[in-house]
Amino acid sequence: MRLTVLGSAAGGGFPQWNCGCPQCVAVRGNHADFQGRTQDSVAVTRDGESYVVVNASPDVLEQIKRTRALWPRAPRHSPIRAIVLTNGDMDHVLGLFALRESYPFALYATEAVWRGLEANAFLRTLQRFEGHVVWRRLEIGHDMEIRDAAGESTGVHLRAFAAPGKLPVHLMGGTPSPEDNVGLVFHDGSAPRRSAVYLTACAHLETRSDLEGHAALLFDGTFYREDELVRLGLSQAVAKDMAHVPITVDDGRGSLARLSSLPGRKIYTHINNTNPILSKSSEERRIVEAAGFEIAFDGMDITL
Ligand SMILES: [Zn+2]
Repeated sequence: MRLTVLGSAAGGGFPQWNCGCPQCVAVRGNHADFQGRTQDSVAVTRDGESYVVVNASPDVLEQIKRTRALWPRAPRHSPIRAIVLTNGDMDHVLGLFALRESYPFALYATEAVWRGLEANAFLRTLQRFEGHVVWRRLEIGHDMEIRDAAGESTGVHLRAFAAPGKLPVHLMGGTPSPEDNVGLVFHDGSAPRRSAVYLTACAHLETRSDLEGHAALLFDGTFYREDELVRLGLSQAVAKDMAHVPITVDDGRGSLARLSSLPGRKIYTHINNTNPILSKSSEERRIVEAAGFEIAFDGMDITL
């Protein structure tokens, strides 16, 4: 099984269109310490022919354009057989509407996330004919084989688990559910099982049992510090307000301290443009790498 990081930035990307923070300025100026990043997504394949894409980023067309494995093999074709949503965030669903050109795919989402999508009239553009986009319910705790819109297996297996998060702005007011935000475990069904976890929005790490026992963990690297945006004068919101556990917290409850003892590969992704680990020469980058973590980049391949 192989995972390819299509986008390693948090919502907004890097640089973010309306951000003049020092890092966004530097990446726009092609500074050697930085590389540009698109918004959170990963492609998973077992056979290199059928692909499952996690989250449909607003950058999905650009991500497909620069990923040869996702190019059509016939006049009307796409290797993308299914899309899995981890929550209903705009930076995870807007890309669906860019994939409306009458090509069938399966959409895996929890019932709560699907109901949020369904409330939007835009969804009709993905329901142009029977079987255009086939919703399959992602049930927490169920191990399932991912199938395309026609029911054909992709060879990729998936289990979703509930993760602490918060409702996106456009869905606020609804009743919160454990299905609002999930992490995903991928494996290819073979034994011994080698699996990868994808969890890019996680509010806290009071329990980490879902993250144990995997060959690779791609984890929420949104913020390095709790008050990162406040320090830069960009916002009054701290990481907790946005439901992201920061990499470091003074009391040892940051993800670096909580996850560094896990034996598999540990990779930070969904990195906000303000996070100092984006700079190849920063002290924060050195600390994170010394603790055994890798920093995802667009185009990174992870083979299990
Ligand atoms: Zn910025």
